[in-house]
This record gives sequence, C-alpha cells and structure tokens, in this order.
Amino acid sequence: YLLVLLRVLPLISQLNTIRSNFASTAASVDVTNEFLSLHDKPFMNKGKLPYTKLLEGVSFNSLCFAYPGHEKLVLKDVNLFLPRGTTLALVGSSGAGKSTLADLLPRFYDPIAGSITIDGTDLREFDVVSLRKRMGIVSQDTFLFNDSVKNNIAYGRSEATEDEILAAAKRANAYEFISKLPQGFDTLIGDRGVMLSGGQRQRLAIARALLQNPEILILDEATSALDTVSERLVQSALDDLSRDRTTLIIAHRLSTVQKANQIAVLDQGQVVEVGTHEKLLQKGGYYSRLYSMQFSDRPNKNLIQTKVIKA
Ligand code: ADP
Ligand code: MG
Repeated sequence: YLLVLLRVLPLISQLNTIRSNFASTAASVDVTNEFLSLHDKPFMNKGKLPYTKLLEGVSFNSLCFAYPGHEKLVLKDVNLFLPRGTTLALVGSSGAGKSTLADLLPRFYDPIAGSITIDGTDLREFDVVSLRKRMGIVSQDTFLFNDSVKNNIAYGRSEATEDEILAAAKRANAYEFISKLPQGFDTLIGDRGVMLSGGQRQRLAIARALLQNPEILILDEATSALDTVSERLVQSALDDLSRDRTTLIIAHRLSTVQKANQIAVLDQGQVVEVGTHEKLLQKGGYYSRLYSMQFSDRPNKNLIQTKVIKA
C-alpha cells in the first residue's frame, strides 16, 4: 500500500501546489492522506478494477461538468477521442475549461453527466490509485522538495538507479545545468538550497516524468516565465517526453499546436472545432482567429532568434 502511495505522490504533490496551496516541503504520508481525503470525497464512486494498460484510447463522451456548489456548466457536451500514442492539444481563451477537462482525467473531479472512458471502461470503475499511478502531470507549478536534485528526479521511483536518473536528466535537457551546481546531483534545492529558474524547475519535472514513464501524460505547458533559451530546452524535452505517448496537452506554444495529432478548440466549455492545424486554418473559423490573435507574435520571435544566430 505504501509503495503504491509513493508512486502516486508526484502527482499528488503537484496537485497540492495547484489546488490547495499546501506550503508543504516534506514528502510525508500525512500529506497523501490529506490529499486522499480532500479528493476522494465521500460521494466519490470508488471503483475496484485495477487499471492495467491502455490499448485503444481515452474517450470523452457527452461530458458535462459544473464545479461542486456552482450552477454554471464549465464543460458542455464534450465529445473527444484521444487514441493511444497520440497527442490531443487543447486550446482556447482563458476560462474556456481546458484545465478543468485535464483535471477530470485523474479524477480530481467527476463529470456530472456523460463520462470519460478508457478502452470503453468508465474511469469511475477503476481503482483510483492504480489509475493515477499510470498518469503523469507536468505543469508550470512544478513541485520540488527541499532535497537533493537526485531525489527530486527519482521522486516516486525510489528504486531508480543512478544511471536511470542520469539518463532521465540528460533526456530532459537538465544534465548540463545540474552538473554546474555546487554538488551536482547531490545539490540541495529548495528553501535553503540553490534557487532554480522556472525553466530549470520544469526540466526537473520533465526528468521526473520521464523516469516515471506514465502511460497517459497531461501537460500544461505555460511558457510565460521562461526565457528563450529555457523555452527551447523545455520544448525539446517535452517533445521527447510526449513522443508516442498518449498525451493531453494544454498548448500555448505554436510548435506544439502544429505538431499535435488533433487540436480541440474550447470556447465557454464547448468544443467548437476539432482537427489538425492545417485543417483548422483552412476552415478559417475560431481556431484561425485564435491563431492570428494569440500566436502572431510567436513566429516573429523565432525569426529574430534565427537572425541573431546567423549574424
Ligand atoms: P482554462 O484552463 O481554459 O483557463 P479553467 O478550466 O481553469 O479554464 O476554468 C473554466 C471555468 O471554471 C472558469 O469559468 C473558471 O472560473 C471556473 N473554475 C475553475 N476552477 C474552479 C473552481 N475550483 N471552482 C469553481 N469554478 C472554477
Ligand atoms: Mg488553465
């Protein structure tokens, strides 16, 4: 039981920072219990089926959602299919419901109507712990412990070897900055330790996720805090992490959106368009407007970069 809890902790700890502002820096079972009591609410239908493997894909079926105690429907009749090994990007303006939809996958909330199914089985039928341990979340609110770099990467995978940790750090483009820290992988980070930049924290989170090797990946890739170099390093690490992996991504970067197998455009809780980047641009609808509004400055930024490199 403890082992299982330890494997879910990365997910839980990140959630703590996102949802309840726990100022906790210690990985304790207390935190986990607190989490479980917070999120496995009494009314939550507790499934028994151990979640094993994803074969076909994840399906959102006529899904509706309102936050407990609120009348407003935040998600309205959402129908989407995310085939195994592919990427579905969610785009839409702030408040459209993207994060809420992502939160329903690990069952932080349940739909009020409709369902999410994995290979046809309702999420509510699965044992929630076994379900969550196959899901990984990387968001801008990366949760790091006041512990060594090594332990932060291996968090939730305490049996990982040094070689595995090293390999994950390299793949996450984190190796270079780690090796420049005073004690390398043994450097303490956190309150009294070395301060890391947003991009470095994200790359540690990516290294952790690579080591965890989740079957279903949920990414919230906000980039506003990142400088150009960090953004590029984070981007290529994210590409590596999500390659051939079943991925739901809240996409802000143009490159991610363009590469996604599907893009779903959310507007006030409704999926208004689904398709590839090219198809949606051709269509000249909501996405193409969003694209020209939100992303018009991005290619320019890349152009400037290229110029600098060539000059
Ligand atoms: P997005 O990620 O697309 O910006 P969100 O999923 O965060 O959108 O929010 C969708 C809607 O749900 C918004 O109207 C937001 O105010 C509301 N909302 C988000 N979180 C909560 C919450 N915990 N309780 C009540 N309403 C919420
Ligand atoms: Mg959001």
